[in-house]
Amino acid sequence: MDRNSLFHAVSSLSDVMKNGPAIYSQAEGVHLRNHAGKDFIDMGAGLWCVNVGYGRDELADAAAQSMKKLSFQHLFGGAASVSAIELADRLLTLFREKAAAPHMARVFFGTSGSDANDTAYKLVRYFNNMRGLPKKKKFIARLGAYHGLTHASSSLTGISAYHKDFDQPIEGVLHTSCPHYFGFSNAGETEVEFTDRMVADLEALIAKEGPETIAAFIAEPVMGTGGVFLPPEGYFEKIQAVLDRHDILLIADEVITGFGRTGQWFGTGTYKLRPDIVSLAKGLTSAYFPMSASIVSNRIWSVLEAVSEKNGTFMHGFTYSGHPVGCAVAMANLDVIEREDLVGNSARLGPHLLGALKNRLAGHPYVADVRGVGLMVGVEFMADRATRKSFPEGSAPHKIVARHAAQKGVLTRALPFVPVNSFSPPLSITAADIDEAADRYASALTAATPELTALLG
Ligand code: PMP
Repeated sequence: MDRNSLFHAVSSLSDVMKNGPAIYSQAEGVHLRNHAGKDFIDMGAGLWCVNVGYGRDELADAAAQSMKKLSFQHLFGGAASVSAIELADRLLTLFREKAAAPHMARVFFGTSGSDANDTAYKLVRYFNNMRGLPKKKKFIARLGAYHGLTHASSSLTGISAYHKDFDQPIEGVLHTSCPHYFGFSNAGETEVEFTDRMVADLEALIAKEGPETIAAFIAEPVMGTGGVFLPPEGYFEKIQAVLDRHDILLIADEVITGFGRTGQWFGTGTYKLRPDIVSLAKGLTSAYFPMSASIVSNRIWSVLEAVSEKNGTFMHGFTYSGHPVGCAVAMANLDVIEREDLVGNSARLGPHLLGALKNRLAGHPYVADVRGVGLMVGVEFMADRATRKSFPEGSAPHKIVARHAAQKGVLTRALPFVPVNSFSPPLSITAADIDEAADRYASALTAATPELTALLG
């Protein structure tokens, strides 16, 4: 039935036609069960999103109650629901306090990370039109970035595999260097020298295009899908200075890093960003309901407010913006994160996960790097670590390892930009589950090693 009806997202269609789908049917905590009854530890938390773990009655009850009381209410034409108002207030307070960002002013709701970034894309254009700067419209993202797959957000994404055959990126979206020190530094280059080179690359791009044409810079505090790339030393501080000098807005894409992933509430706090727009999704509802939020700064809000009488209705929004069921689920989700101190758990168990993987994988000939922050860890593969030799173009060692890991009951993701397996379990995971997952992953790597060696011919 799957082969004859379901069009899978981001999948090899030929693989699905050949092998059929991988069907999962049940989940509890960090454990996922497939249709055949096999159990897995889900070290990906779905797609970095099930932050409170699966199967929470509290979130299901919040959804059920909300559906019975007010199954739908939009936000168009000044309408609202109490739950949308309460969630906006709670998010704003949380972000201002936990991310040291008192300059944030309003919350706009959507349904996905991609549409949050499209909202940011449109808001920046609107803002500069209202400021009388119609030429200031270009966006700079980074190579290796992942910002979603709608037309604008996919263009911001800096991974060519997503652009190919879709005529992307759209005009006016530029990409600067990927700040992955381990992968892209030159021989002998210190981390600070690497940061300075990244900043110089950005400066050069701005100078080439003309600063008067550059509207915004978008960045994930920690690059997720690209390969779990932590910002190199001093990176955001120096980038921020460049942006300030040229009146360029910063969009922080916190779709993965929001709600505890880095061991703090927000990556903005972890890396001391000063964003004008923040995109949130995934952990906002732990994916129990599709929902996103864009938090905008005073700088933007004050312009929007000032022009609103003269300029008329703000013509952007979605049917499901501020969906009351999503807002109720998000409130229950935040209750769980706070009550169980899941952000603290992420901070405490992040080093445990990193250490567990490092200990078990150390010395393996093809494990080039194990890195991470909070409960967000990447394992990178190379043919030869010492000489930084990659596996042959087109081969996918990390997919082979992920396949073996799944056979041993651990789900990890094989990322599309560099050969990395990512680990981003529910923040509710225990040390015992981490150890069990790391044991299984290490034995999967051992089982996969002959296949990896065969890739080298
Ligand atoms: N931004 C980032 C940083 C993401 O990781 C993702 C999803 N992986 C998105 C945006 C897009 O989110 P969605 O798939 O909900 O549209």
